[in-house]
Amino acid sequence: MAYKIDITLTPHKKEKPASDKLGFGIHYTDHMFILDYSVDKGWHDARIVPYGPITLDPAAKVFHYGQTIFEGLKAYRTADGRIQLFRPQKNFQRLNLSNARLSIPDLDGELALEALKALVRVDQDWIPDAPGTSLYIRPFVIATQAALGVAPSTQYKFMIIMSPVGAYYAEGINPVKIYVESEHVRAVKGGVGEAKTAGNYAAGLNAQEAASKKGYSQILWLDGVHRSYIEEVGSMNVFFKINGEVHTPALSGSILAGITRDSMIQLIQSWGIPVIERPITIEEIYEAGRTGALEEAFGTGTAAVISPIGELNWQDERLTINDGKTGELSSKLYETLTGIQNGTLADPFGWTV
Ligand code: PMP
Repeated sequence: MAYKIDITLTPHKKEKPASDKLGFGIHYTDHMFILDYSVDKGWHDARIVPYGPITLDPAAKVFHYGQTIFEGLKAYRTADGRIQLFRPQKNFQRLNLSNARLSIPDLDGELALEALKALVRVDQDWIPDAPGTSLYIRPFVIATQAALGVAPSTQYKFMIIMSPVGAYYAEGINPVKIYVESEHVRAVKGGVGEAKTAGNYAAGLNAQEAASKKGYSQILWLDGVHRSYIEEVGSMNVFFKINGEVHTPALSGSILAGITRDSMIQLIQSWGIPVIERPITIEEIYEAGRTGALEEAFGTGTAAVISPIGELNWQDERLTINDGKTGELSSKLYETLTGIQNGTLADPFGWTV
C-alpha cells in the first residue's frame, strides 16, 4: 500500500561533520518526519519537513506524566553504495508494544516503515561510510494534549529524527568494568521495564552517575524483589558463556526485549551452541567465576552491538572475567553481526532491508 507523505525540502542544507568527529547523537540530519494524532482524525498528516525545533504547550502531557516512548535503530551504507536497515519491522513491533503499555494509540507499522525509508532516502547523503560509522535513527511518540488531568492524552506526535554516529570501537573492542547495583532498580515485573519509555532511563541516571564516579562504565541491574536475579547491563541485554553454553536472562516483564539480543540468540544457535533463556542470579555468576566455569560475559544492543564485560563489582567483591580480555565468542558475534549489518557478509536470516 502506498501512503501519502508530503515532503518539504530545506532550502539550507547543513554542513556535514567529519567522520572522525561524529560522536553519538550530537549532529542531526537536514530533515525529520512528523505524523499527528487526534481522536477524530486518528494518525494523520504524514510529512517530512526541515529538521528544527517544535512548539508545544507547556501543559503538554509528555512534560508532566511522561507519556512517551521511543525506538533506536541504524541505517548502514554498504561498500557497493546500497543503504541497509537492520530488522526495522521489529523496532516498529516493539514500538507498538511500548505504545500499548503507555496507553498510546497503535501506529501502522507499514506506514512507519514507509516513512522511515522516505526520510532515509531524502537524507541519504548523511549516512557516513567510514568503517564502523552509521546513521542512528530515533523514532518516538510524545503526548501533546495540553491538559493536566492524569489520563491518556487525546493528541500525539510520532516523529523520526536521525543522527550520523561514529565508530563505537574506534580503537578495537574493549571489555568494560561493570558495577552491580544493589540499591536502586531499573524496573519491576508489572511496571514498564519491557517498554521503551523515557522514565526507565531517567530512573537509571542516578545509579549510573554514582557508578561512573567509582570508575565503572555501566550498571548491572538486579531484580526489584530479591536484588539477586540479573536483568540488564546499562541499556543492553546481557549474556554469559558458562561451560560451553550461553545463558541469558529470560524476558520476565521487566527486561526490554532487545533486537540485538534476539539476533545473537539466533546466531549462536546457528553455530550449534545451546542458548538457555532462564532466571540467572548474581550469586550463581560469582560461583561460576570462582570455579572457572564462567568463560565470557557481554552486553548486546544497537549502539555497541557487543560490549564484553571484563570485570564485575558486586558489594565490593570484584570478579575478573576471561582475564579482562574480549572472548572468542564475543569477537565472532561482533564480526558476524556487524558484517551482516554493513553488507560485507551474506545475510542468511533475511534481516536486512
Ligand atoms: N535494554 C535496554 C534498556 C535498552 O534501552 C536497549 C536499547 N534499545 C536494549 C536493551 C537493547 O535493545 P536493542 O538490541 O533492540 O538495541
